[in-house]
Amino acid sequence: MKCKFEKKIGAFLDNELQKEDFAQVKEHLKSCLICQQTLRELNSINIFFENYTDVEVPEYLNQRILSKINSSVSKFKKNIINFAVAASIAFAFFSGLFASNQTFTQNRENTEQIAFGTESFYSYLDWEE
Ligand SMILES: [Zn+2]
Repeated sequence: MKCKFEKKIGAFLDNELQKEDFAQVKEHLKSCLICQQTLRELNSINIFFENYTDVEVPEYLNQRILSKINSSVSKFKKNIINFAVAASIAFAFFSGLFASNQTFTQNRENTEQIAFGTESFYSYLDWEE
């Protein structure tokens, strides 16, 4: 149950048809039940969207939507802050680890230099044996 005019109904409704096409479809609509039905459906969709975009949101609903948006934004901000804190702690930890490692390496080299010629630095480590 299809009609070759059916696909032109949308353009007809939106006033996008050429003059001849428009007149033809208009004439056709008088007799074709399929196209009349399609026209009704498309028209009700158009009316729905017109009402949908023009709809006035009640103030309380507006506030609720805005507070929902705000709370999710602040949750997002909190997540970012938490991440930044964690990242800086991790950075401080690793740079501290790196720094102490550097210090240890330097100390060991110094101690080895001091101990050079007498005993190896590492011999102090197993003095208990
Ligand atoms: Zn038709």
